[in-house]
Amino acid sequence: MSAESENLSTYRAQTLQALLFNALVFGVTENDASDGQLKVISACTPLYFGHRSTYLLIQNLDTDEVIEHEDTDATFWLSARDETNPYARRDALLKLREDWNTDLERQQTPEADYVLALAAHLQRLVTTRILHVGAWIDSNVSRFSSEHAEIQSLRRQFETLSRELAVGVEICAMKCSSCGLRCVEGKRHGE
Ligand SMILES: [Zn+2]
Repeated sequence: MSAESENLSTYRAQTLQALLFNALVFGVTENDASDGQLKVISACTPLYFGHRSTYLLIQNLDTDEVIEHEDTDATFWLSARDETNPYARRDALLKLREDWNTDLERQQTPEADYVLALAAHLQRLVTTRILHVGAWIDSNVSRFSSEHAEIQSLRRQFETLSRELAVGVEICAMKCSSCGLRCVEGKRHGE
């Protein structure tokens, strides 16, 4: 490999790595900008990169082509996201649950069915996001050698964060001995 292509692939892997976290957490939403054409990741919050008004595009960095893939506007939780808030994971899960189904609807559904449907819904959301981000990575590294160490490290990080993203929406589902309802908090929420 020439030194130039070596540098290019390193640079590309590092760029993607810097965007990966927000891509997995926020995914894409329709851009509300006036041209309305681009699908963009929700605005970065100042927490992560410090540029409040920046939109990250889920696109090919060479061609600016937008990666067309189904996605959700769900915001997921990763441990590095907000370590100072001990309730961040619970809050993220609560929001996803409320967006899907109201307490009233829950009362009208047999409890076991409700919990199964909730778990399947959350699984679907997270899988959709992971596949979208995976397609974005594939598109952006396709012209580089997959043997390249930085690209392999990017892929490993993608796998690790994807697993964490999926574990973050697993629910406890234990049955409460007094009320008979299933617990819809995150798995291992007592830890
Ligand atoms: Zn529980």
